[in-house]
Amino acid sequence: MAQSEEVFVGSIDQGTTSSRFLIFDKQGEPVAVHQEEFRQIYPNPGWHEHDPNEIVTSVENCIEAALKIFEKDGHKKESIKAVGITNQRETTVCWDIKSGEPLYNAIVWTDTRTAALARELKARKGSDKLQDICGLPISTYPSVTKLLWLLRNEDKVRKAYEAGNLAFGTIDAWLIYKLNGGPKNNVFVSDPTNASRTMFMDIHSLKYSDKTIDFFSYEFDLRKVHMPEIVRSADEKAFGKLTSGVLTGFPITGCLGDQSAALVGQKGFEPGHAKNTYGTGCFLLYNVDTKPVISTHGLLATVAYNFDGKPVYALEGSIAVAGSGVKFLMNNLGFSSQSHKISELAETVSDNGGLVFVTAFSGLFAPYWIDDAQGTMFGLSHHTERGHIARATLEAVCYQTKAILDAMEKDSGHKLSELRVDGGMSNSELCMQTQADLVSIPIVRPKMRETTALGAAIAAGFASGVWKTFDELKEVNTAGQTTFQPKMNAKDSAKMFKKWERAVSMCKGWVA
Ligand code: ADP
Repeated sequence: MAQSEEVFVGSIDQGTTSSRFLIFDKQGEPVAVHQEEFRQIYPNPGWHEHDPNEIVTSVENCIEAALKIFEKDGHKKESIKAVGITNQRETTVCWDIKSGEPLYNAIVWTDTRTAALARELKARKGSDKLQDICGLPISTYPSVTKLLWLLRNEDKVRKAYEAGNLAFGTIDAWLIYKLNGGPKNNVFVSDPTNASRTMFMDIHSLKYSDKTIDFFSYEFDLRKVHMPEIVRSADEKAFGKLTSGVLTGFPITGCLGDQSAALVGQKGFEPGHAKNTYGTGCFLLYNVDTKPVISTHGLLATVAYNFDGKPVYALEGSIAVAGSGVKFLMNNLGFSSQSHKISELAETVSDNGGLVFVTAFSGLFAPYWIDDAQGTMFGLSHHTERGHIARATLEAVCYQTKAILDAMEKDSGHKLSELRVDGGMSNSELCMQTQADLVSIPIVRPKMRETTALGAAIAAGFASGVWKTFDELKEVNTAGQTTFQPKMNAKDSAKMFKKWERAVSMCKGWVA
């Protein structure tokens, strides 16, 4: 095909630690990429914030820089048909609907300042009914506790609420609003994969739920808060267009929360398909078809995507700390300045030397949901080396993945036949082999691991006619994948896992 006939789709990937802009061709290959990290703000232990304006700037910078690469390679920007967005989920932004200015930093999904508030909410009558409606149990994780905390504790937020000017949104809504020029055009929307993470959306109808909003409105009337309209994940018009920068006028036609985007990017379109993304945190999504499955084993019900009004759902297992455990060894303990060196360090020892590291820096998420769990190491001795600590850090994610898969099997009644993986930490061969050993099924890792960004591009590409059917995506990103086969005998892996479960049972209750 001549270059002039080629079509491309842009993808904004707004992650927890960095923003990226990628431009994909129709074969799903990224032809231009730019990434920019932004500040992680930790004002108090357990608190984690981002500057909402810095997030927007980082995205704008990435678009400019990636486009330069794209044009330098001889491509024309007019061949970009649309732009998709994928983003860190749950992270909560409050802003003034009149000025478009943030009222506080974004409270990040990992933040645990709301642990006491979550306990308070759980103790209220009717709290046990919420999961049936919105798919999530109360914890520090969904956006609702972050919004309630801001209303209680931040004067600026409360004043805006009292004046009827408080806008609340997840990062997708904030970005779309700002990229569309803010209050001038007031494009204020969210897709169901993001809205399903607030606890305000009825997962069955994909509309705001009066019941959950009433439940949370005992101190503040949440109906007074402006919330984004929930639209489909692929839509030609609803997300508006870019109003500044090199892509001014280009339409945004797709939006998916990062984990749903990764499932789409891994082409998990069939019931029973599953993917596990080892990024800052680690998230396993399992396609359960067109009806949500409300978990009774500590998993979440979430929306996989809604491209055409027929939503597809997933069961989700969320792990709060994955790559951020690797970063902890680097930044806090000074083990190395490069992530891959942590994996190399772990390879200097033949096993964990009896060490188990429960990396519960943000409590423990699925399937345990222990808000007051704290990071704890068990089995330290004179024999312990840095290699053991590195190995135990990687293993912690693999154990939690095993616990999630066990829970998924109970909820769905099916055993997975293979697990597709991606995310930064999946670069570690040792981590992926350990994973295969612990879950006793093959782990399949694609060559091109920007699957989250690819998922957003696919959503945008569907809405803009670049791709029309899932069938057209069959060959996308299939060449060069690596399969890790289980090698450890079942008895040994069961023994390792038993030790982990014991460690989990002992890592809570430290903070009174
Ligand atoms: P996010 O999208 O959540 O920002 P990424 O998918 O970019 O995350 O993954 C980044 C994480 O992966 C970082 O925490 C980093 O330390 C970790 N990581 C990257 N490469 C490796 C590696 N070879 N071994 C172990 N961890 C790695």
